[in-house]
Amino acid sequence: MPVKKTAKKKTAARKAAPKKAASRKPVQTFDVIIIGAGPAGLSFAKMVSETGLAVAIIEKQPEAALANPAYDGREIALTHLSQKIMEDTGLWDGLPPRDISLIRDAKVLNGDSATAFDRARPLHFNHAETGRDNLGFMVSNHLIRTAAYSAAKACDNVKFITGVEVTAVDTDARRARAVLSNGAVLEAPLLVAADSRFSKSRGDMGIDAAMHDFKRLCIVTRMKHERAHDETAYECFFYDRTLAVLPLNRRHVSVVVTAETEDGKSILAQSPEEFARDIEKRIGRRLGKMELTAKLHAYPLIGVYAQSFYSRRFALLGDAAVGMHPVTAHGFNFGLRGAKVLTAEIEKAMKLGLDIGAGEVLRQYERRHRAATRTMYLGTNALVGLYTRTTPVAKMARQLLLRLGGTLPPARKAIMRQLTELDAIQALS
Ligand SMILES: Cc1cc2nc3c(=O)[nH]c(=O)nc-3n(C[C@H](O)[C@H](O)[C@H](O)COP(=O)(O)OP(=O)(O)OC[C@H]3O[C@@H](n4cnc5c(N)ncnc54)[C@H](O)[C@@H]3O)c2cc1C
Repeated sequence: MPVKKTAKKKTAARKAAPKKAASRKPVQTFDVIIIGAGPAGLSFAKMVSETGLAVAIIEKQPEAALANPAYDGREIALTHLSQKIMEDTGLWDGLPPRDISLIRDAKVLNGDSATAFDRARPLHFNHAETGRDNLGFMVSNHLIRTAAYSAAKACDNVKFITGVEVTAVDTDARRARAVLSNGAVLEAPLLVAADSRFSKSRGDMGIDAAMHDFKRLCIVTRMKHERAHDETAYECFFYDRTLAVLPLNRRHVSVVVTAETEDGKSILAQSPEEFARDIEKRIGRRLGKMELTAKLHAYPLIGVYAQSFYSRRFALLGDAAVGMHPVTAHGFNFGLRGAKVLTAEIEKAMKLGLDIGAGEVLRQYERRHRAATRTMYLGTNALVGLYTRTTPVAKMARQLLLRLGGTLPPARKAIMRQLTELDAIQALS
């Protein structure tokens, strides 16, 4: 009997052994591992590939969704700095020219939705004051993603690992490690997380983030209209909602409504005709008859600012580092800027023969990216706070701010240079 038992055990062990060996995959090594193939992760993959490093980018969506991303309602306002970065990295060439729209001027209004257009004198940002032909560019998010994917995919040294999730990350003095949902293990001297504002790896690496739930929905769509928009963007701070109407080519505009969550739900329940009549009215009938040409997409508004942009052999990028409220249109612009700065610091380290994942390299990235983003993040949140409060004091402060911007050309110019990121072009070249 005992012999039999032992034999049984041995058989079981022998049976189990090959199974165990099959599930243990060899560790794959790279120079840089990127979590997340959103627009920030993809842009960074393309930029860092230029250094010749071996890059892996991991994305939980299937590759087909990266190659042909669906329209998601977001039309991204790009600054001059972003346009330059995209041109330098070859991403701009991947955008269909007919789908790049210009914002020449911008007007900001404040007040009651019924009277703002009749009574208020808008704060006017005129492109002529910037010395450029336009204040910025408008491009659909899905087209940016397509261009960034194609550019990164064309690089021999970028390996796409798609349809799998990163389930665990850890680092030690020598290397960073990412464990995937299919059991694969990847190692590199540097791990970069561009895995959204809800980044799981950020928490896993012990980095806290200040999260601000605005308790509002941002509803975006496209509309066609009767009268020319003259390439002018309107930002209307009404007392109940905010409305941005942004110029697109072929007599279209991008419409962005933000409202308290419950109010937002009632907007989503409107018929296309009801929605169109409401927007026509709120924009003071400037664009004549309007019609929806896309469905409504809704995004909950949550701002995020990571308390640190790095830890040992680990850096945060894109929304994982700074998740902006869209009213100042800086989320992806900051993602691109961060990718450019991180790549520059990596290049610098390589030239000096340093370890690309060393604390000093990542500290420089953190210092520069924080300096570029913090004031705008806090300023945007303060602006949103002011423009969503309807107390008499807040209403007065809103009027005062607009008047100051209108009557003090230096203040207006300073705001314009911040919003267009014109000053940063020279600094980053
Ligand atoms: C309504 C709206 C309007 C906006 N307008 C503007 C604008 O005008 N200008 C501007 O600059 N910005 C704008 N933004 C912001 C901009 O869209 C974001 O900043 C940008 O999309 C963030 O890109 P990202 O790559 O950092 O993150 P994401 O796009 O969130 O991508 C993260 C990726 O990581 C993947 N991922 C997450 N976790 C894992 C994991 N564990 N394993 C593998 N993959 C993972 C996800 O699937 C996703 O593909 C707007 C945003 C909204 C909501």
